[in-house]
Amino acid sequence: SRMDRVDVNDLIRDIVSLSAQQARYNNVEIKTSLLDSLPAVWASQTELQQVLINLINNAIDAIDRQGGIIEVKTWRPAYDRVHFSVQDNGPGIPEANLKRIFEPFFTTKPVGKGTGLGLSICYGIINTMGGDIVAESRVGDGTRFEVSLPVNAPKR
Ligand code: ADP
Ligand code: MG
Repeated sequence: SRMDRVDVNDLIRDIVSLSAQQARYNNVEIKTSLLDSLPAVWASQTELQQVLINLINNAIDAIDRQGGIIEVKTWRPAYDRVHFSVQDNGPGIPEANLKRIFEPFFTTKPVGKGTGLGLSICYGIINTMGGDIVAESRVGDGTRFEVSLPVNAPKR
């Protein structure tokens, strides 16, 4: 978990190209919309990859139909923050579950398919980096995860 300056756009391009085949196999297309000249963030590259893989795999798992779309975006809401989001047009998450998805061992997947640890690990990783991760979802509409990361190393 060495901290370094990480180009989030490059990281997204790498993970998306690695996930594309699995996505296609599940009738899912992954699109990107990346902000030009995004500043690097202070982060652990491998842990950030893990977060993005978790979010994309969850979205692929959730979408079970033709015309599945995952959209990954980057933007810069403030000079010192970089945001990225992973949005899908899957079935969405019922409100009662949405409150619990970041809890360790919360899963709706069959035994052997999910550990329920992915999102709790994502949450821990992002918070350790001084960032934030939130989910919004509506049943029938899909799900969107938004991650906020600091551009600078946190003050200590
Ligand atoms: P796991 O993938 O092992 O179940 P996670 O912590 O990654 O564990 O996710 C917890 C639960 O959150 C999933 O079982 C699923 O119910 C829900 N979830 C996560 N991402 C999505 C998504 N994109 N669409 C619908 N449900 C999701
Ligand atoms: Mg998961």
